[in-house]
Amino acid sequence: MSKIARIFLSAAILGFAVAAAWAQTDGPINFGRPARAESVSEFIKAATRYLGPLCLPNSEAPLELKNASLMNVARRYLGAVEEANRVYRRIAEKKGAANFIAEISLDEAAVPQTAEDLFFILAAVSFRNMAVQTIAPRFSGAFLKGIDYEGDVQKFAREFESALAVVEMAKLTFDLPANLKLSIHSGSDKFSLYPIMHRAMAKAGAGIHLKTAGTTWLEEVIGLAASGGDGLQLAKDVYAGALSRIEELVRPYLAVIGIDRARLPSSEEVNAWSGLEFVEALRHDPSCPRFNPHIRQLVHIGFRIAAEMGGRFTDLLRRHRDIIESQVTENLLRRHIEPLFLGRFADKIPG
Ligand SMILES: [Zn+2]
Repeated sequence: MSKIARIFLSAAILGFAVAAAWAQTDGPINFGRPARAESVSEFIKAATRYLGPLCLPNSEAPLELKNASLMNVARRYLGAVEEANRVYRRIAEKKGAANFIAEISLDEAAVPQTAEDLFFILAAVSFRNMAVQTIAPRFSGAFLKGIDYEGDVQKFAREFESALAVVEMAKLTFDLPANLKLSIHSGSDKFSLYPIMHRAMAKAGAGIHLKTAGTTWLEEVIGLAASGGDGLQLAKDVYAGALSRIEELVRPYLAVIGIDRARLPSSEEVNAWSGLEFVEALRHDPSCPRFNPHIRQLVHIGFRIAAEMGGRFTDLLRRHRDIIESQVTENLLRRHIEPLFLGRFADKIPG
């Protein structure tokens, strides 16, 4: 089996594992669901000693850990941490604690967490002895799937620096894995943030996890469309399938997509496009007049349509492996890894 198909399948299996975990916990973890009263008072009792100023590295002013934040975490997040702990224990029991990487993501909460909230959430995680290796907070602004950041970049810069510092301080304060790091959801395509994130990471000497899973699927569709013939037809069929099932596809992603349906062309219109026209509409190049972020987001969440095609999809991936591989390398290495982790920036927004 080709590497691309394997990666796709492992992503599908991971998706299944998450779906199974959701089913066992009555749906996605609800941030608002409170923990039991005894757990709340136990947590507050154990965490109260951390109230007061917390000196952060590379920061002039200490972070003030206030009672209001402790109460907010006890009320809004403790129940979710306990639910995550149940899922964590179940996976650890089946797989062995050393054989998987646990991440807690809070990025779909209704409001962003403050740096203080993050500190107390990590306290709750450590009190449950969960070996969490990455944590994805919600920052202000919108981190939509497959498109650039929308929001106040300078505000994000301050929040990101504080969050990096808080994770480092939490590791010194609590019993948490040494490689615990921030995770960014949705991390792909946030080209306007990578220079800021690179500088902040270099200053803090810290790493992060950038979640980019869906962007590789989009490169597969771009590669298939670019190869023309039956590859292009499959890409068009994915679009048509996704458009006809849009209600079903958007439902799990309402917090992380911003599709304007009036900007989605009909499948008849798209069927008449050349490979280049399809590629230009889908590829994330804001300087290209044909780029359509609404099409891009719809295809992003439409991976299920290809998965249902089974062998037709995977056979074409194998046949057009070369062109897809070069798309994936260009995207992940040149547009994501090099600017974010190595500080190498292209002169213009890459296309
Ligand atoms: Zn997420």
